[in-house]
Amino acid sequence: MKIQLNNRQKKIVEIVKDNEPITSHKIAERLSLTRGALRADLSVLTMTNILEAKPKVGYFYSNTDTKYIDLDKLYRKRVEDIKSIPVVVKEETSVYDAIVTLFFEDVGSLFVIDDQQILVGVISRKDLLKVTMGENDCNQIPVSIVMTRMPNIITVEKEDTIFQAAEKIVRYEIDTLPVVEPEDDGKLKVIGRISKTDIVRIFVDFSLEG
Ligand code: ADP
Repeated sequence: MKIQLNNRQKKIVEIVKDNEPITSHKIAERLSLTRGALRADLSVLTMTNILEAKPKVGYFYSNTDTKYIDLDKLYRKRVEDIKSIPVVVKEETSVYDAIVTLFFEDVGSLFVIDDQQILVGVISRKDLLKVTMGENDCNQIPVSIVMTRMPNIITVEKEDTIFQAAEKIVRYEIDTLPVVEPEDDGKLKVIGRISKTDIVRIFVDFSLEG
């Protein structure tokens, strides 16, 4: 079972771990609180089997499977910690070559950049599918015709939190965000990529780490 603890509950767990067995009176003393103020937290911790209470002896840290996820730690993680290498093409790349790149690189979207690595567009699976549904020669059509263009591209920077990235993915209903670094002239240089899968993975890994 995984539950989230508040800060005071986490502190209590740490105190008990280091000093078991310890009475509620002593725990209260260390936190400069009254025993009454601790009652609710202690009952949460014993009901969830994180702590064990032995009458007249005190509280023990219980070695059960119960773990807690420190969600604060997860939310503090930065885009920088999980970003991956961007998969990029040029504006003149053909739709055909873009599709081949999508398969080879095993991604859902490509970033379109200029010669200075500046972001000019994004092209997704469905953008490419759309062109192939018509009577078009995919070798003749450049991606610039079908891509979503700047300034309509949603981006993140490496110092942003992964929560901010996740929020953008949900709000704008997109699968991938370019990680960018603004240049002095305001143009955005592409330095990475964050996908829906990266976000899901960090939640799963974090829970497994427990
Ligand atoms: P798919 O179309 O394959 O489901 P998305 O949901 O990511 O993939 O893309 C939906 C639309 O949004 C596409 O037209 C795509 O060009 C555009 N798009 C994708 N990523 C972004 C982004 N980061 N910012 C703005 N538009 C984007």
